[in-house]
Amino acid sequence: MNMNDRILYQSCPLCVSTSFQFHKEGNCSQHPLYSPVLSPIIRWNRCLDCGHVFAEGYYTPEAQKLVLARTVQNQVTGTDLENARFISARMVDRMLPYVSEGRWLDIGFGSGSLLFTAMEYGFTPIGSDLRFENVELLKRMGIEAYSKEIHELELQAKCAVVSMADVLEHVPYPKAALAKVHDLLEDGGMLMISMPNMDSAIWRALDQKQLNPYWGELEHLHNFGRARLYALLSACGFEPKSYGVSMRYRVCMEVIAQKV
Ligand SMILES: [Zn+2]
Repeated sequence: MNMNDRILYQSCPLCVSTSFQFHKEGNCSQHPLYSPVLSPIIRWNRCLDCGHVFAEGYYTPEAQKLVLARTVQNQVTGTDLENARFISARMVDRMLPYVSEGRWLDIGFGSGSLLFTAMEYGFTPIGSDLRFENVELLKRMGIEAYSKEIHELELQAKCAVVSMADVLEHVPYPKAALAKVHDLLEDGGMLMISMPNMDSAIWRALDQKQLNPYWGELEHLHNFGRARLYALLSACGFEPKSYGVSMRYRVCMEVIAQKV
């Protein structure tokens, strides 16, 4: 029997409009983090005012605990560092024209690859991750690390860079999270943010073939396109500076923006 696993959105989580309608259904029963007490179906809505596409609700604390109790291997700190280093280096390289030193906070650091690579380049790494064991591992290495939700983060000092690689689409209220990130950055600080891009041709091609993995991605609450992400960034005090394709996961974009 399925538990009552989601807290339903009463309005669009981005623009607060109450006009939204059912958009599409996804099946998450084959997802590695799926637990049989969770609903196998994810219902997606579309906001009629801002066009945002979002899951009908986010997991209750009890359901979230079940999801976090399982871990996909690439979310474990220390996994596949040698291969991931090449992908991470490309991300740091993209940041270098804007900033080349200072404190780099990676929210949802997972394998730790991006932080370790930023450290190689001379940045001071700071990590945040909801998986407690990952945080303990980083702390044992002498790295400032936190196991907190974004809105609860209190750092020792502000940061030159904050990265959120495949994180914002997991957060129930992205605007509040970006407001907090804005606050954690130094003046003129840089944000790097990646997530799937539903405005891309490859997304549509996967939809046509019924092979798009993201409708059944149980950890995702939002599907952004580039335009909706840029509008959100601007509304939260960031100026998008550079668009790129993310090498981390399928169909993803990687945007660099500056705190204004
Ligand atoms: Zn909306």
